[in-house]
Amino acid sequence: MALLLGIDVGTSSTKEIVIDDSGRVVVTAASPHTLDQPHPGWSEQNPDQWWAATIAATREVTGRLGRRASEIAAVGMSGQMHGSVLLPRESLDGSGERAKPLRPAILWNDQRTAAQCDFIERAAGTRRRLVEMVGNAALPGFTLPKLLWLRENEPESWRRTAMVLLPKDYVRLRLTGLAATDVGDGAGTLLLDVDRRTWNIEAMRLFDIDPTLLPPVLESAAPAGTVTAWAAAQTGLPAGIPVAAGSGDNQCGAVGAGVVEAGVALATLGTSGVLYAHANSPRRDLGPDERSVGRIHTMCASDGHVARTGQWCLTGCMLSAGGSLQWVRDRLFPGESVESLIADAANAPPGCEGLVFLPHLTGERCPHPDPLARGAWVGLTSRHSRAHLVRSVLEGVTFTMRSILDIFIEAGIDASTVRLGGGGARSKFWRQMQADIYARPVCLPNTEEGPALGAALLGGVAAGVWESVPAACRACIHITETHDPDVAAADRYEPVRRVYDSLYPSLRETFHALALGH
Ligand code: ADP
Repeated sequence: MALLLGIDVGTSSTKEIVIDDSGRVVVTAASPHTLDQPHPGWSEQNPDQWWAATIAATREVTGRLGRRASEIAAVGMSGQMHGSVLLPRESLDGSGERAKPLRPAILWNDQRTAAQCDFIERAAGTRRRLVEMVGNAALPGFTLPKLLWLRENEPESWRRTAMVLLPKDYVRLRLTGLAATDVGDGAGTLLLDVDRRTWNIEAMRLFDIDPTLLPPVLESAAPAGTVTAWAAAQTGLPAGIPVAAGSGDNQCGAVGAGVVEAGVALATLGTSGVLYAHANSPRRDLGPDERSVGRIHTMCASDGHVARTGQWCLTGCMLSAGGSLQWVRDRLFPGESVESLIADAANAPPGCEGLVFLPHLTGERCPHPDPLARGAWVGLTSRHSRAHLVRSVLEGVTFTMRSILDIFIEAGIDASTVRLGGGGARSKFWRQMQADIYARPVCLPNTEEGPALGAALLGGVAAGVWESVPAACRACIHITETHDPDVAAADRYEPVRRVYDSLYPSLRETFHALALGH
């Protein structure tokens, strides 16, 4: 029986999973990373750490498999997106053994590049023009602004750079000796032609980036090399097995939840909240006005392989989803469990008798791209209790996710059902609330492993275990529970949701004055 290994190079750890060809989880392992913050707002990691963590986690996996480790037929890669790994020429000798980055990688959550983002938008002409060209607005986390920052601030490292890789691609270089990336992670650089799924020569010319700095770009389930004898000795993997190109963690998470065809969206309520939808064309968020252009991202999905070009996906991220609930628990009701707070929330009615919560506790990205947005309870009266406070937080987070869903729909996405993931999906009460507020059936897949599982499935397609990514998902992923919207509850949410929708626009200037202290 073929076993498949998925490797997810995350921010806090490298997570691995081995499945068999029915999708059954055979073994999992993880190895932690540390995060460096050399200045406030900066965020870096040494890529050598990812390789060391991959060796540790893979050795654990292969050690626990014992003789069955020889049945591992393929590897797939997932990873944190956008991080910049700069490599000198000596790293690219085809062996993977001597790949040594010139400096630490600047990560997705690094905030140093606001000036470069302004420059990128001005160089493109307008934000709308930029979104038309590369599918996305310039955010400090994306790769291109980091490259411009490095060119301006560290000309010596930049001069020695022969190749720029993304995090999971660096780990794959060490496994296979070959440099490559995939269309999904590539879209997070701002240098991809998202429509044609190749590097964007117009963008490279505009920003003066030499195309030879970037590796070949492949579909996510295409093989991107085989494990070398050296990497096999380091990790315990069989030498010669294929390693799929893989993708960013959002795209691999969607594969792991079976969201690989148009008509289905995925709502993940972790610390942040991410809405993801598969799309059969590269639809863009051109917004009602220039400020709102590019609130959601247009990326390439992971459903392609050598014999089939893949499709697209849209993603939108709110910053404090489960994080808002966690904040209420930690700061207002310490010592209580999240479960007991949610049980109490059920004692308040839908709409919380006129209490509305805005969840922008750490600024906001989507649906309001505004780092100075703030949280608020609006409508408090002496009648309100703990149940109302907690329920209004769940509702405010879910209204925000619904606003993101509405942007997807404006962009032409058909999402007739929503699959659920993340810690928030553990609560039945919150699952039903999501069905009522999204006004669509929501369902729970049988999988919780997310990106690492998706990566393993991509590896299986690269090795020929399944003929396509949707076929892999059909073989391994099924729905365990569906919640239909309750019409009476949905009607009670509607007027409150209209009030919620009006609050951020009317409080925007107030939030800015409070945040800036005048
Ligand atoms: P992360 O993004 O940190 O990986 P997770 O997907 O593990 O997050 O989700 C963590 C969030 O899930 C917490 O912030 C918390 O608000 C929420 N959560 C934890 N337990 C439950 C539960 N039993 N029911 C609903 N939400 C929960």
